[in-house]
Amino acid sequence: MEKMKIGRRFQGKVAIVTASTQGIGFGIAERLGLEGASVVISSRKQKNVDEAVEKLKTKGIEALGVVCHVSNAHQRKNLVDKTVEKYGKIDVIVSNAAANPSIDTILETQESVLDKLWEINVKAPILLLKDAAPYLQKGSSVIFIASIAAYQPQTSMAMYGVTKTALLGLTKALAVEMAPDTRVNSVAPGFVPTHFADFITKSEDTRKAVEEKTLLNRLGTTQDMAAATAFLASDDAAYITGETLVVAGGIPSRL
Ligand code: NAP
Repeated sequence: MEKMKIGRRFQGKVAIVTASTQGIGFGIAERLGLEGASVVISSRKQKNVDEAVEKLKTKGIEALGVVCHVSNAHQRKNLVDKTVEKYGKIDVIVSNAAANPSIDTILETQESVLDKLWEINVKAPILLLKDAAPYLQKGSSVIFIASIAAYQPQTSMAMYGVTKTALLGLTKALAVEMAPDTRVNSVAPGFVPTHFADFITKSEDTRKAVEEKTLLNRLGTTQDMAAATAFLASDDAAYITGETLVVAGGIPSRL
């Protein structure tokens, strides 16, 4: 990625990215950091947080790591408090954490699993924003990481898809509430072979089938998602709010 020509759009900015010790979240934190942001990364495990901070620091990125399971109220508040203690403000929040704990159909999904999906994928991002709102600057930006599944829930992850659909609604509603000082947008990734989506690369046939769904004949990369997120978070997108950017290689979504 360092070889790519990238700017310094986030010089002097402070960005929090949840679930950012690997995969798409890490890619986003790295991109914002390479463009000059001080990045606050987090996930459930201290070891993962420490390792990710080290990786970012070796690339010359200013990074702070805080353990935060997004559905833990104390850890959410601590994430915001530690950020403000160290950097004094928040310019960008990328809400990236999600769970997909079941492959059951919606009507066969246990109530406790329905609660968990709602809790982690929808409620936790709202509660984190409640904690962070007092520190969000004029010109700040919130990005939700939704999914192509928000438009067309797939049978093996239907309820997960519905929680992502909820994020699209949340994007619209919060864009109204938080305007004009804070813009709120979403990125809807297609298929990116991360740990979360390792089913894609489990067999060559599945990988091919997914690639063939795209117009661009390839899977997405964490850098693809990071570039779109960085655009929406930056002043290049200063007149965009309440929108979702689909980054899925042309997989059908909506008009
Ligand atoms: P990933 O590579 O598996 O990374 C997940 C990250 O989240 C890890 O850093 C993990 O670290 C952390 N994490 C997991 N549960 C957490 C929690 N409850 N609280 C805080 N951190 C947590 O996943 P990914 O594919 O990058 O997915 C990131 C986002 O992209 C999700 O919102 C997902 O729905 C969305 N998405 C992914 C795809 C895809 O194809 N990959 C497609 C569409 C949308 P710890 O284990 O240390 O917590």
